[in-house]
Amino acid sequence: PAVPQLPFSTGGTIPQLGYGVFKVDPDIAADVTAQALEAGYRHIDTARIYGNEEGVGRAIAASDVPREELFVTTKLWNDAHSFDDAIAACEASLERLGLDYVDLYLVHWAVPEQGQYVEAWKALIELQKRGLVRTIGVSNYPLPQLEEIIEATGVAPAIHQIELHPYFQQRELRELHEKHGILTEAWGPLGQGKSDLLENPAVTGVAEAHGVSPAQAVLAWHLASGIVTIPKSVTPSRIVENLAAAEIELTADEVAAIDALDRPDGRGGADPSTKTA
Ligand code: NAD
Repeated sequence: PAVPQLPFSTGGTIPQLGYGVFKVDPDIAADVTAQALEAGYRHIDTARIYGNEEGVGRAIAASDVPREELFVTTKLWNDAHSFDDAIAACEASLERLGLDYVDLYLVHWAVPEQGQYVEAWKALIELQKRGLVRTIGVSNYPLPQLEEIIEATGVAPAIHQIELHPYFQQRELRELHEKHGILTEAWGPLGQGKSDLLENPAVTGVAEAHGVSPAQAVLAWHLASGIVTIPKSVTPSRIVENLAAAEIELTADEVAAIDALDRPDGRGGADPSTKTA
């Protein structure tokens, strides 16, 4: 399936649909990542805290896909927000991945109460200067902290990875992203199995109209909405199925029907404003 490439305002592009490996057991990470590459994914999303960077790296090393055709993201964990720790943490992630650069490095959570989210962002700016990472962004920054790092450094993140799915659409943050040329990336795009999203009649209605699964309908909604999306599965048929969502084109009415599912209490994961280390 042909996955669109979205341009960063800072240069370069990102495949709009990728493969996420949160909660993928380190023992199977190499195997499922290899399956994803075989299926045609060219964008892999991991993190230090997932404990599976080595497995992802082994799959990349064993694959025939040229490095320049791959897009690899990893993330800085909350225990390494000081400038020197962040530099060292990135170097250690690269070592585990067996790569000399990652395409995207993200601060994983702002952790406002820890008060080092500006310093962590400055370290990422330095890592990009040093060529260890091609593009830099953040994840889970509440709106005030996102504005603060831009004001403090004059550098806006190229992308912001946040919880986002039809029940939690993050319109306020997305408006700020647009203002600053920041791409929006969805984590938990399928709702992480925490709600009845995939049984919602608006979703199943769109799915039936296209002869696709509810998960594919939701992913097609992300793509139609200009959002980068990184569904996770360790089930071979679903790994293939999720990527095939790139071939589904929703009508404006179908997008609107899923847009209407947004709800104020739709958050399934931690609230970045109160998240502690
Ligand atoms: P997700 O919404 O992708 O849900 C994954 C779950 O959905 C699977 O475990 C499976 O149970 C189900 N599923 C997958 N494909 C399906 C299909 N075709 N049909 C039916 N059910 C299906 O949730 P996630 O894994 O938490 O999020 C995706 C990725 O986002 C992660 O793997 C990770 O890379 C990233 N992430 C980042 C953060 C962050 O803080 N930055 C947090 C969570 C996840």
